[in-house]
Amino acid sequence: MEKGLIEVYYGNGKGKTTASLGLAVRAIAYNFKVCFITFFKPRDIFEQGQGKVLKRLGIEVHDLIPVKLHSYKKMGFEKGRKKCLKALSFIEGTFQKDYDLLILDEMNIVLREGYLGKKEILRFLEKKPEGLEIVFTGRGAPQWLIERADLVSEIRKIKHPFDQGIKERKGIDG
Ligand code: ATP
Ligand code: MG
Repeated sequence: MEKGLIEVYYGNGKGKTTASLGLAVRAIAYNFKVCFITFFKPRDIFEQGQGKVLKRLGIEVHDLIPVKLHSYKKMGFEKGRKKCLKALSFIEGTFQKDYDLLILDEMNIVLREGYLGKKEILRFLEKKPEGLEIVFTGRGAPQWLIERADLVSEIRKIKHPFDQGIKERKGIDG
């Protein structure tokens, strides 16, 4: 690929993760090398759903924090932060693997919760290989990330079936 950019999909509407999956599919069509990393996705849900399909497409997948945020919080902030620092250094390791597209699904939540900070992420982005496109998804992207990014989309909720009491639907929401 030519110059890789930094993309951010944030906001309170549905479609951030879905958009990143669509991008991964499109990139694969052009034989790009794709890595999809997710946070706060319970292991079984990931493996039954998108993780399984991405693997079949030849995409490297990692469910780095395979539990929901509210469960993750139970270990306490310091321990949670340490694990996220480890996750970040793992992600930095993928910079050696010649990917064209790296998706960091729900990374904005890691930042919103303060598990990783501005300095760490800006330093990480400094090391980004020239040709690599990186996508950050999740509600609540910090302002400094929005400023640093080249492409930012806010997915704004107009309506969501959750508000009518319709629960998460398999194959649609997760
Ligand atoms: P999707 O994975 O469907 O693209 P998303 O990545 O934009 O959604 P997240 O903030 O990651 O949304 O939300 C996680 C879960 O909450 C998903 O199952 C999603 O469908 C659902 N969800 C998304 N938007 C809303 C909303 N406005 N209110 C309630 N639940 C939502
Ligand atoms: Mg999402």
